[in-house]
Amino acid sequence: MKIGFIGVGNMGGPMCRNIIRNTNHEVVVFDLSPGAVKACTDLGASSAASVADVASRCDVVITSLPIPRIVEEVTLGAGGIADSAKPGTVFIDLSTNSPATAKHVAEGMAAKGIRMLEAPVSGGTARAAAGTIVIMVGGDETVFEQNLPLLKSFSGEVIHMGGIGYGSTAKLINNMLAFCNSAAAAEALMIGKRSGIDLTKLDAVIRNASGMSAGYANLSAKVLAGDFTATFALDLAHKDMRLALQMADELGVPGMIAPQVMSLMRMARGMGLGSSDSAAIMRVYETALNEDVRA
Ligand code: NAD
Repeated sequence: MKIGFIGVGNMGGPMCRNIIRNTNHEVVVFDLSPGAVKACTDLGASSAASVADVASRCDVVITSLPIPRIVEEVTLGAGGIADSAKPGTVFIDLSTNSPATAKHVAEGMAAKGIRMLEAPVSGGTARAAAGTIVIMVGGDETVFEQNLPLLKSFSGEVIHMGGIGYGSTAKLINNMLAFCNSAAAAEALMIGKRSGIDLTKLDAVIRNASGMSAGYANLSAKVLAGDFTATFALDLAHKDMRLALQMADELGVPGMIAPQVMSLMRMARGMGLGSSDSAAIMRVYETALNEDVRA
């Protein structure tokens, strides 16, 4: 099969490279960043001139794009996938969107005879590189089954959640929980710092004790090393939290904890940290208390 991959950044890049390594499919990539494209063509992919070029040449078109507006532009905009792909093409979106965006895009695709799976992913860049991410899929079960081998070629676990919208729903719920855990981790580490405890030993305890979570592990690794280079940008985490809170509002679920974490993210973005890693929420505490938390 010919697989098109649009958006080969922090997550899309390693996922695309795993398809190239682990399957015999021909892979065609497009990204606005030439460096991101090169990291895939170096492994054997070919590059395309535009979204339309990818979409018209491929049997399956995959996207991993930053925000819903860009997903809508690349899919339903002029010269987008819906305009350019052949009827019968399968479109798989790995980006994190709202369920409403996923449904809207799926309708636009269906009108052109394109079948869509929304398939947001979780696990971060390290697991994307290792091919062990989890993929949560919304969409028609037959289309899901047909494309399962492709999804498995770059992941450790693939779960069909139900119809279109349920993949995004699972992803937003998961990320809201992970960000709450990260924010609690930032507070915990600052208490540790002020107490004078050995932070490396505290970290070793937490990683083997009941306070451990993926949110803690991601944040503490970056904070203790003092490296806030984005593998998951704060701007993208903020987008996910905004979509999760919107979903909670729509469902009439009152939030106590998540809105506080959203305020922390807003503060960090206000400090100019949007393109830093999402772990940079720690900088809000560090700046307020004039104290860095490093191993
Ligand atoms: P990223 O910014 O590193 O990558 C996005 C890529 O899309 C970039 O290379 C960019 O040049 C490209 N792009 C943007 N607009 C484009 C366009 N119009 N046409 C073609 N290419 C375009 O972001 P990322 O961290 O890889 O995140 C991608 C998606 O995955 C987001 O929806 C994010 O929320 C989600 N996600 C990220 C992580 C993570 O740890 N980074 C984890 C899970 C899910």
